[in-house]
Amino acid sequence: MERDIARILIPRSRIRQRISELAREISRTYGEDSQGLIIVPVLAGSIIFLADLIRDLPFKMKIGLMTISRYRGAATTGGETQLLQDLTIDITNRHVLVVDDILDTGNTLRTVKSQLLQRKPASLRICVLLRKTAKAPNDIIPDFVGFDIDDVFVVGYGLDYDDNYRNWPDIGVLRPELYE
Ligand code: 5GP
Ligand code: MG
Repeated sequence: MERDIARILIPRSRIRQRISELAREISRTYGEDSQGLIIVPVLAGSIIFLADLIRDLPFKMKIGLMTISRYRGAATTGGETQLLQDLTIDITNRHVLVVDDILDTGNTLRTVKSQLLQRKPASLRICVLLRKTAKAPNDIIPDFVGFDIDDVFVVGYGLDYDDNYRNWPDIGVLRPELYE
């Protein structure tokens, strides 16, 4: 696995530190409303981020699962998205925080957001670990961002290429010859 990574973009220690800060930002933003917050992760890329982030949140919260699929090849981004499985939890009149790995073109989060808004939550905010500033759309503006990054293909810390590398503990740049 290690030899497939060209370079480490964000080492695990920086991720760890930034997640504590994000958790504090989230707690501060929700304040009294944080009790009973419902977190909706966008699977599967957000799983490691989600696991670390929620353990830094000092209030009672729930996780609501939904499955979104994208019609795409392994490393391409953008394209159509589709809801495969409905939410496992009722979010009507509840404060909802969507957690995703990367905001790139915004297509994924646009689908998720419109699906969730139909259920009339009390509020809907978005937290992403990474934002690629090159394509970031102006209709999907995340409330919490871990790191802004350049337009490079990254893997690790939950992010995959062809379902591999999710267990790599750092965020790294894949060797281009592996996907070109
Ligand atoms: P968007 O729908 O915003 O274009 O793309 C967001 C989704 O595309 C992310 O949630 C992620 O699953 C995938 N994606 C975008 N860029 C990358 C990347 O650099 N690496 C990986 N592994 N996935 C990416
Ligand atoms: Mg994703």
